[in-house]
Amino acid sequence: MTRKLLVAGNWKLNGSIAMTNDLISAIANGLSNSKNFDVAVFPPFVYLSQASKLVGDKILFGAQTVSEYEKGAYTGEISAVMLKEMGCQMVLVGHSERREYFKESNQDIANKFKAAQAQGLKPILCCGETLEQRNSGVTEQVVAEQINVVIDLVGIDAFKNAVIAYEPIWAIGTGVTASSEQAQEVHAFIRSLLSLKSDTIAPLVPILYGGSVKGSNAQELFSMQDIDGGLIGGASLTAHDFLAICQQADKLS
Ligand code: PEP
Repeated sequence: MTRKLLVAGNWKLNGSIAMTNDLISAIANGLSNSKNFDVAVFPPFVYLSQASKLVGDKILFGAQTVSEYEKGAYTGEISAVMLKEMGCQMVLVGHSERREYFKESNQDIANKFKAAQAQGLKPILCCGETLEQRNSGVTEQVVAEQINVVIDLVGIDAFKNAVIAYEPIWAIGTGVTASSEQAQEVHAFIRSLLSLKSDTIAPLVPILYGGSVKGSNAQELFSMQDIDGGLIGGASLTAHDFLAICQQADKLS
């Protein structure tokens, strides 16, 4: 089964009009027209309109979260309809920073996943354990719970149009990367979890790894059987670092 690799850059709370312009233009210029892997950027909401004019046909783009609500009295929220109107193709849901700092529960995240798909956006469902959870041997239990709540709400068929990102929290922004074997082990577990619901859908779902991915470790990670690219934080903020990761994906595509 060949799944297309995806290299996705999560800018988090970083950016400006100038940076959006320079970074997306430089990424677009650095990517070959004939590349056989996908590239996506996730700028802050306010730069999405600008991003839509810069991405061309080589780069996908989306938002870092989405409201579970469609419209109404929900001050500060941004709906999937609005993201779709901006031209977004994808949206991150359940990033660990949303879970931790903004108290998003597994159920909130499942609702967001559903709201995104209802408008034709492809959700990237993020999951992953803390160091404490890993050390106490409950990684699989935590990840299974995070994914199963979504499956329970939307059904396994919905994963035909979704991506999962496994991001061990202890590896995010810390410079500590999970070894390729550690990551593969959890990715294989996630795929087996999906297989319990559907043997035909499980092999189709791209599973990204996230957590201190760099040009120097991307090739080893992305060459693992169940690792289908990366969700990149820090290294997505400069074209040099992001393109270094894309080059590794290119070699494997
Ligand atoms: C992330 O936040 O999704 C992430 C993987 O960050 P970093 O690459 O900086 O570890």
